[in-house]
Amino acid sequence: MSLQKAEFVETKGGVVRKCPGTKNHICCGYQTIDLVEGCVLDCSYCILKAYLRDDRIKITRGEDAIISELNNTIDNAGGHIPRFGTGELSDSLAIDRRYKLNRFLLEYFGKKKKAILELKSKWADFGHLSEHLNPYTVISFSVSPQRFIDAEEKRTSPLYKRLKAARAAQELGCFVGLHLDPIVIYDGFEKDYRYLIGDIGRILDPSKIIWISLGLLRFPPAMYGLLLERKRKYLLTGEFIRGEDGKYRYIKTERIRIFRMLYRLLKDIDKGLFVYLCMERADVWRESTGIELKDSEGLIGLFDKRIKNIYGGAL
Ligand code: SF4
Repeated sequence: MSLQKAEFVETKGGVVRKCPGTKNHICCGYQTIDLVEGCVLDCSYCILKAYLRDDRIKITRGEDAIISELNNTIDNAGGHIPRFGTGELSDSLAIDRRYKLNRFLLEYFGKKKKAILELKSKWADFGHLSEHLNPYTVISFSVSPQRFIDAEEKRTSPLYKRLKAARAAQELGCFVGLHLDPIVIYDGFEKDYRYLIGDIGRILDPSKIIWISLGLLRFPPAMYGLLLERKRKYLLTGEFIRGEDGKYRYIKTERIRIFRMLYRLLKDIDKGLFVYLCMERADVWRESTGIELKDSEGLIGLFDKRIKNIYGGAL
């Protein structure tokens, strides 16, 4: 994998942030630790292309400042169990073997025992972290049908490697997360997703999947031009509307139809799976899953309950 020029930035704080969420949509209360800005994996739909000005990878150093921010956030969580991830402005694992960026966080969360760190990736390589893993680290993979990966995520690990890596993480005692995101409408996608969910059921132990998110393709207007320019046929099939937050999404009836189908397929694997929708409206939640949520606090409460159930007194 080629690495663009990496620039190291020393931080004095300000890298732990609340996921900005989106207006009038239910947000899960996730928090991000922005260790890296920019990504070598170069997925064609990556929203970073619309936001970042150049191809450089910015790596944040300054462990003490980050830990002090985390202590402050976790100690003032007001009864919630905070969840953090390093995979928002980059991929958590793509350059981690080379730069060893996450190791101090694994050690910190393992000792703190009051919050969860999620490493979210499309790069199936966490072997260098094996000896630092602990139950407070969740290894997560974004998964899509292989046909879509071949077309739009060319530099990432193939699906079977991601699922095998997730299984290996389970065998090492970690909970794993899965993110079916972005889900994209293209000719034959329903069948591909049936196979994909079949593979999840065959390869993984459902009792060690902590959560599964479902997120349909959405992008800001600046991205729309880029997708047109690059003639991304997989990404421009379907009917889009522009939401109150300005982002393009598939029309609501389609979103409900697809979420409902995937939610049921996943629950058929194991009805105890915790499946949530990423940045959706309360009415879409209700129609797709039967779950009534008034606001984001409702979803954050469901996460707290889920974590308490599976960790027992350990968190
Ligand atoms: S892995 Fe994530 S951050 Fe990296 S290019 Fe793909 S979508 Fe962007």
